[in-house]
Amino acid sequence: MRAQTGLFEQRQISLGSNSQGVLSFLHSQSVRCRNNPRGKGALYNMKKLEDRIREEGRILSDKVLKVDSFLNHQVDTELALEIGQEFAKIFAGRGITKVLTIEASGIQFAMAAGIALKAPFIYAKKKKAVTLTEQLYTSEVTSFTRGETYQVSVSQSYLSPQDRILIVDDFLATGAALVGLVDIVKQSGAELCGVGCVIEKSFQEGRGLMEQLGVEVHSLARIASMRPGEVTYVHELENAGANVHV
Ligand code: 5GP
Repeated sequence: MRAQTGLFEQRQISLGSNSQGVLSFLHSQSVRCRNNPRGKGALYNMKKLEDRIREEGRILSDKVLKVDSFLNHQVDTELALEIGQEFAKIFAGRGITKVLTIEASGIQFAMAAGIALKAPFIYAKKKKAVTLTEQLYTSEVTSFTRGETYQVSVSQSYLSPQDRILIVDDFLATGAALVGLVDIVKQSGAELCGVGCVIEKSFQEGRGLMEQLGVEVHSLARIASMRPGEVTYVHELENAGANVHV
């Protein structure tokens, strides 16, 4: 607990001015959205996805996993649709009206979730296009893979206080991208019902940050540790009786 608090303090410093407002918003949201019949901390894992990560994933460093052959560059469309269906099952009955992601690598999964939930999806844009002439909700995000800070924006026309939002992304690493999206939901007055991530690197601080903030996060493959030729999932450690703190 002490370690988590420390982590959150660190994140507040690096996430800048957004985080205080996001924190109070999330505390109120966690009260409003805790209606998951399977329990807030219920664990899910998608075996087919986990197997593909083991077969095709390339571990570039102890923190970076490359899944370009089936998720991030070339996309296995059947698997992407199944991922969307998994998210729809997990978040069924929440009255989700829109799915929100961030370009580019979250798009295929948000679309798949939107199809399964029969809801539109929105992707936050990283660059302000000349066609983006409306009023915008914006937030700052620092990229884990590129190390650069950029602004993400969503037109105010597409998010309203009546919306119930599911945020979807491909990876949960430091949680910075999610905090940016959560901030945008907060600005709009919409209700945040949860976050679905395809792959979570549970050894990084993202989940701890989200839990500290009271956000319900479900990831389909939770990696406890990885090194070339070896990926260990959180549920495998738990099944082996390990006391897991990731
Ligand atoms: P975060 O904000 O949680 O640190 O990272 C979120 C984004 O960084 C993800 O949407 C994903 O695009 C990218 N990312 C983070 N870690 C990895 C990784 O290990 N591999 C790949 N391919 N992308 C990653």
